[in-house]
This record gives sequence, structure tokens and C-alpha cells, in this order.
Amino acid sequence: MTTEQLLQWDRTHLWHPYTSTIDPLPVYPVARAEGARIVLEDGTTLIDGMSSWWSAIHGYNHPVLNEAIGRQTAEMSHVMFGGLTHRPAVELGRLLVDEVLPSGIDRLFYADSGSVSVEVALKMALQYQISRGEKGRTKFATIRSGYHGDTWHAMSVCDPVTGMHGLFGTALPIQFFVPQPSVAFDGEWDETCLAPMRDLLETHGGEIAAIIIEPIVQGAGGMYFYHPEYLNGLRTLADRHGVLLIFDEIATGFGRTGKLLATYHTDITPDIICLGKALTGGYMTLSVTATTKAIADTICSGEAGCFMHGPTFMANPLACAVAHASVSLLLSQPWQERVRSIETRLREALTPLGGHPAVAKVRCLGAIGVLEMREPVDMKRLIPLFVKEGVWIRPFGRLVYVMPPFGIISDDELDALLRGLTNVIEHYPTND
Ligand code: PMP
Repeated sequence: MTTEQLLQWDRTHLWHPYTSTIDPLPVYPVARAEGARIVLEDGTTLIDGMSSWWSAIHGYNHPVLNEAIGRQTAEMSHVMFGGLTHRPAVELGRLLVDEVLPSGIDRLFYADSGSVSVEVALKMALQYQISRGEKGRTKFATIRSGYHGDTWHAMSVCDPVTGMHGLFGTALPIQFFVPQPSVAFDGEWDETCLAPMRDLLETHGGEIAAIIIEPIVQGAGGMYFYHPEYLNGLRTLADRHGVLLIFDEIATGFGRTGKLLATYHTDITPDIICLGKALTGGYMTLSVTATTKAIADTICSGEAGCFMHGPTFMANPLACAVAHASVSLLLSQPWQERVRSIETRLREALTPLGGHPAVAKVRCLGAIGVLEMREPVDMKRLIPLFVKEGVWIRPFGRLVYVMPPFGIISDDELDALLRGLTNVIEHYPTND
């Protein structure tokens, strides 16, 4: 099959994320990827600015991860987790409990994707409340501009405007939304940010099973970084009203924000944590929903006698083995220093672009750099310009952002990525 034939077949038959079948955006055929570089079929090499949506923190084709997955394939690729267990599941679990998760969050449920892990978290909260005799607590509270995945209940807690509420209407469960905290990550904390959630819980607390939130970084809903004190305050409010606190760390987990988990920017521990994406270094899809013994035991002491979930590919050994290798690799490296130095470089490169008339705001945190534009960007026009510069950057809405594979990208590659970004933005048309 020639590359043209491949693209034609793809265009006719394959759906890409959030893409029209009638007028799809162009796609680029990738032949291979290595380190921080993606190589297209025509030989063009692109420096990766996306880490394949937060996941490929060690880049691509990493020998350590390849070896782990190859070794596991030779043993077994998969066995059902009902009635069976295996070393990859146990060894990964132990590593997460001992080295990654906050103390006390040590009961783990493996599932196949981030969205499913959010469904599992919401179900855990609901079953917990039912087991406590709180059957009226069937709703969830969250903040606006959030994103938690594309499955049904995950969709219901995504931002009601930029999410899919408009389209699916009342078919979606109705949840409670309050404004996002207006104080930015490095802003001066203002207690009044918590007032909307306090008011909501005072009036509707008895209907709410849990608060679900992306800690510190709201990702796909707007790439916004808010103040850690907000989360400390949520903990107090949740406890006061018998509501569980769920942190969706699917995007933020494993070092991206400069801490191993975004939770560690706060002084508190949530009740449930969702992990995914970078868990396997972007090699395979796997997620974990983790909670406390007290919550797990409460769920299982209820009428059902167990937690009502059990996916076919639960704890897939290949995914667990590569996740163990990826987390170990991360922990064996001076990743904090690396993320800090990337943050400095991002600030140096992006701050001057804040003066461009088309750019509204610049934000950097850890290995994430964001340009918020004044108007939605024209992806069809912009992406080919990035490709021409030899960089892979995929904007959405008003956001042009980079989150490079911090575990592997070299200083030279990072400079080239930021040069490519700068060249495109400097020539970005303004409305004047
Ligand atoms: N939660 C957050 C915070 C996410 O960023 C995402 C993915 N973008 C999800 C949940 C859903 O994960 P997945 O795409 O693996 O289902």
C-alpha cells in the first residue's frame, strides 16, 4: 500500500478523535517514533511537543520499556483477573502504594482507560454512600472547565458548556457545577473562591456522593492552573458534609506538574485517586482507581457484598509490566530537576510571546507551557505550519500548548521545539 492509498483508506473508513467523517482534518502518517522524535512515512522528523496527550513521558521506543513488554509477552500477554492473579499486577500495585500514592490510599482497582477509571471512581463513591445508608446521595459536584473523559458519567462531570451537555442534553445525568477557582496557581489566595462550593454543599450536600476534580491543572477543559489552597478547602468542606473527594490525576500524575502527583502540591489526601495516561509511559492503555481501606471495606460491607465492576482486560499483564518499568524508570531518574529546568526554559521562551496581539495569556507549570490565544485557532492552517518547522504541536480551541516528553527530551530538542513554536506564533495573523 502506498502512503497515498493508506491515507485515502484512513480518510474513508477510520474515525479520528473528535473528527468529522465528511470533512476530516488531515492526518500525518507515522512510520516510527524514537526518543522525543516522531518520524513520518516521507522521512520528515518531528520533535514531539505533546507526549501523545500527557502519556509518553519517556518518549517512544524506549529500550527499558521495550524490554519489559517483550519479557512479559514471552510469559503471558493476558489472563483473566477473576479468580487469578499475577506478578505484574502485584508488583505494580506495590510500587504505586509504596512510592507513588499518598499514605493510606492503598486499595487499587485496575481498569482499561482513564474514562473507565473515572466511571469506577464515581461508582465507588455511590456504592460507598449506599452502603452507609445514604441512598439519596446520587449526584456529583465539580467545577466548571473540567474534563474527565468521554464515557457517560465522565461526560456528565465535564464542563457543561465546552463538554457534550449541549448535544446530549437531559440524556446525561444532571450534576452540580460551581465556577472554577479564580485564583491562579501562583496568585494570592482568596478564601472567597470556596464560597460557591460551600453554598452548594450547604443547600444540596445531602444529594451529593462526591466532589470530583482535576487537582491543580484543568487539562482538556482549558489548561488552567489554580491555587492549591482551593483543594485544601475542598477537603474541609467535603468532610463537613459527608461527601467524598475524588482527584482525577489521569493527566497530572507521574511528574508532569513538578510533583509526582498534583496532590502533593496540597496539604491533604483525597479519598479516591484516578491514574492513567503516563502510568504505562504511554505504551498501553491502563488505569488505576485507588482508595482507602475504610472506603473499600464500607463498599463491600453493603448489600451487594462487593464492588460491582470487573472489566475483561482488568490488570492486563503486559500493561502492568510496562507500567512497572515506566514508573521505576521515572523514579530512578532526577526527574524533578529535569521538569524544573524544562519549566524555566518554557517560561523564557513563551513569556515574550505574551506580547503578541493574538496571545491573551501565557501559563507555565512543570513541563507544561500554554499560550491562550484571543480567538480559537484554525487547526487546519496552524498544524501544517508546525510540521513545516519540524515540530509536533496540536492546538485545540484557543489553546496552543506544549508538554514535551520530559523524561527523554534533550536541551537541543527542547530548544528546537520552542523555536518552531515561536516562529509560527510570531507570524500568526492578527485582526488589526
Ligand atoms: N481525565 C482526565 C483529566 C483526562 O485528561 C483524560 C484524557 N484526556 C481522561 C480523564 C480520560 O482518559 P482516557 O482518554 O484514557 O479515557
